[in-house]
This record gives sequence, C-alpha cells and structure tokens, in this order.
Amino acid sequence: MQHCVCFMDDLYQYDQEYRDSLATVDAEGNRVWIYPKKPGGRLHNLRILVTVILLTLLFAGPFIKVDGQPLFLFNIFQRKFILFGQVFWPQDFILFGLGMMTFFVFVILFTAAFGRLWCGWACPQTLFMEMVFRKIEYLIEGDANQQRKLNGAPWTTGKIVKKATKHLIFIVISLIISHLLMAYLIGVDEVRNLVMAGPSREMAGFLGLLVFTGIFYGVFSYFREQACIVVCPYGRLQGVLLNKDSIVVAYDWLRGEPRGKLQKGKVAEDKGDCIDCKLCVHACPTGIDIRNGTQMECVNCTACIDACDQVMTKINKPTGLIHMDSYNGIKDGKQLRFGGRLIGYSAVLAGLIGLLSYLLISRADVETTVLRVPGQLYQETPQGNISNLYNIQVINKTFDDIELEIEVLDPPEAIISRVGQASTMVPANGMVEGVYFVEIPRNLIAKTKTSIKLGIYSENELLENVNTNFLGPAR
Ligand code: SF4
Ligand code: SF4
Repeated sequence: MQHCVCFMDDLYQYDQEYRDSLATVDAEGNRVWIYPKKPGGRLHNLRILVTVILLTLLFAGPFIKVDGQPLFLFNIFQRKFILFGQVFWPQDFILFGLGMMTFFVFVILFTAAFGRLWCGWACPQTLFMEMVFRKIEYLIEGDANQQRKLNGAPWTTGKIVKKATKHLIFIVISLIISHLLMAYLIGVDEVRNLVMAGPSREMAGFLGLLVFTGIFYGVFSYFREQACIVVCPYGRLQGVLLNKDSIVVAYDWLRGEPRGKLQKGKVAEDKGDCIDCKLCVHACPTGIDIRNGTQMECVNCTACIDACDQVMTKINKPTGLIHMDSYNGIKDGKQLRFGGRLIGYSAVLAGLIGLLSYLLISRADVETTVLRVPGQLYQETPQGNISNLYNIQVINKTFDDIELEIEVLDPPEAIISRVGQASTMVPANGMVEGVYFVEIPRNLIAKTKTSIKLGIYSENELLENVNTNFLGPAR
C-alpha cells in the first residue's frame, strides 16, 4: 500500500520502506505501540493555549442557553437539531443538506490550502488524546523511554499501582466525555434527570452512557492514533485533497540534505543541516518520519517542528528545518498560490454560503402543509359558492406558542372556516392539524383547477404564504 503523498522522490532517495508499510504495524501485521517523546517548545505551548480555549468551549456548550433552549443540540432520537439557538426539524432537511454541503466544501477548500491543521490543532480526538490522556500518561509513567521500560518490566506492586491509577483516571475522564456527548445529544437537563433517576429507572440512557464510556476508554487508552490513520475518513481523503501548494508540516530537504551525523560536535561542511538525530521521528505521535515527505499519517500536530527547532538551537543553526510550508514553497521559494482549484472551490463555497444565508434569513417560523381531503372534489353551497375541504398541518419551529389565523389572500373574496374550533394554537416546537372549508363565489371559478393563496398569520403578522389548488366546475 502506498500511503505517501510525497513529492520529493526526484530530489533524494533514502529507505523507501515507509511507502509500503505503516509505522504502527510490523511485518507480521502486529500493532507497533508508539511511544512519542514528551513534546515541548513554542508551538506546543501555543497548542496548550488553543486546547484550553477549545475544550472550555466544548464543555461549556451544553450549558449555554438561549431563551431557555440549548445553543447546540443534536437530538438524533427526536430528530431535533438546534444550532446557535435556532431549532431545525426534519422538515428543514433542505437547509440541513445545504449546510452539510457548505461544510464539506469548506473542509475541502481549507484542506487544499492548509492541510490537516484541523486534525492536529482542533479535532477533539487529538485534543483529548495528546493534550489530556497522553499528558496524564507522562505524569504517571514518565517520558517515552520510561514507559517502554515499564511496559517491558515484570508486574511489581509499583507497576500495578501506576497502571491501575492511570486506567482509573482514564475511565473517569471517559465517563465525563460520555456525559458531555450525551448532553449534546439529549440536552444537559435530560442528562441530569437521567443521572438522578439512576439505572433502575433509566436503563436505556444508563446503557448509552456505559457504551460511550467504553468506546472513549478503548479509543484513548488503546486504539489511539489508529483512529486518525485507519478510521477517520477525513484523514483518508488527504491524498486527493492535498496538492503541491498546500501548506503542511514540511521538512526543508534543500537545506537539510544530505543528512549526516555531527562530526566533532559540528555539521560537516559537505552535509545539510539535518544531523539525522531522529528526534522529529521520536516526537511524532503517529510514528512517521516527516523527512520522507507529507504522509497520510501526519496530523500536522507540529510536534516534530518543536523537536527539530530544539536540535537546531543546540547546534547553532537557524530553526525551521521543519516548518509549515508547501512543496512549491520550499522548492521554488513560492508562497501559497491561489490556483485554479482553490478558485473553483471558493466560487462554489461562496455560492453555497449565499444560498444558505438566503434560506436561513427567509426561513419562516412555521411550516404549513395544505392537502385537499382525499376523495372529495367540491361542493356547491346553498349561497351559490363552491367549497373545497382541506387538511392543514402547521409546524411551529419556534420556542414559543403561536396563536395562528389562516386567511385566503387570493382570491380575496374567498372565505376560510375551520371545522370545529375557530382559532389554532400551535405549541412551541409542536404541530397542529385541522380540517378547513374554503368557499369561493361561483362566478369567480372559471376552470376545474384554480390556484389559490393562503396566508398564515400570528398577531396580524404574516408568517408564511402557501399556494394550493381549488377544484370547481368548469364554466
Ligand atoms: S510528522 Fe510531525 S506534524 Fe506530522 S504527525 Fe508527526 S509530529 Fe505531528
Ligand atoms: S530533528 Fe531535525 S535534525 Fe534531527 S533528524 Fe529530524 S529533521 Fe533532522
């Protein structure tokens, strides 16, 4: 399997084994456990800051409410979604589909320009793995070499205590994350009710929490980088999304090659700046050698940049032997180019954002469906009018009850009356159905099918126009 999107083959040739193998799988197909060296440095400090901000937002999300409703809710069970305080129902599937398309085009555009920056710096999987679980592991078991030693050591009391402590903390954090996920799915109040009720009364919810906890614990304690390498579809798409102008974590092979060991503490004159210390490889949480070029496994975490910068500083060379750049940027000294593909993606993205914005702005608070009662044609009233019978269903997409009135806007001479009650109260986030007669004077009916327009009002404010057909006798 070729898993490299490397462009540097023409410039230097080293061990090509990386092309046909994964750093995390050995020749027999067994998992190779990665022990990345504890990261540190300028970019890592920045990542800590970004992580604190993003995780704070992530954990605060379910608690933020707008008019008593959560800011975000993805209730797939009730098919109810709230984004930025706006509720979306299955009836909004066009908006939802368009929103998803816009998001995917944005992801494609962003990736073509900036590679997997999202993966290393913002994806919750990486944030929790590298900045929470891995940090706890370093704290309890020490740096990479100590962890390797501990894992190979016999089961002493010290090892049991360390392993038990680590896994206990991992389970507790997984439990917290599963509650967070549940809060995004069913709302924080429902999660509180579920916890208060206990497993005996809320067995399904309790089992859900247990399953999520097990999955998170399995991913963060064992599966780890494999989630990014073999499961994440976004990661697998990198090969087709990246091009030679994409900004990625890149090794400056022009400056670094030919690599060679230090001689008497100095870089030999006929060698490049890379001293082949492999610290960039040891720092990599996916176990790859970035000097082979951009590879599918690279999540742009920038740990190798920090590691190499520290080496360069030690040997009195300029930092940045590994840095964020594009292939063309390094090869020709060119900056990010806004090429044909990026222009095409941007045009599609701008169009989608425009359409989505228009639909969101013009989205009515209610959604009305008008259907003629099956099996009914038309009736002639004693007053000489023609009447049709309709089923009218109104969905209230707001968080407030709405008192509705329905009028016929065209033709204005038409009269609408409800079978039963006179007014219609639609509960917040609810739906109401009713049967209505529409009567039109006989002299206004010229053909068998006449188009009529209904207006849905609340407190004299027009919420929505609905067109439907009215049947009558031809003249
Ligand atoms: S190659 Fe560098 S940026 Fe890519 S995953 Fe490894 S350490 Fe992170
Ligand atoms: S850390 Fe820098 S100097 Fe060391 S092997 Fe990697 S690229 Fe070369």
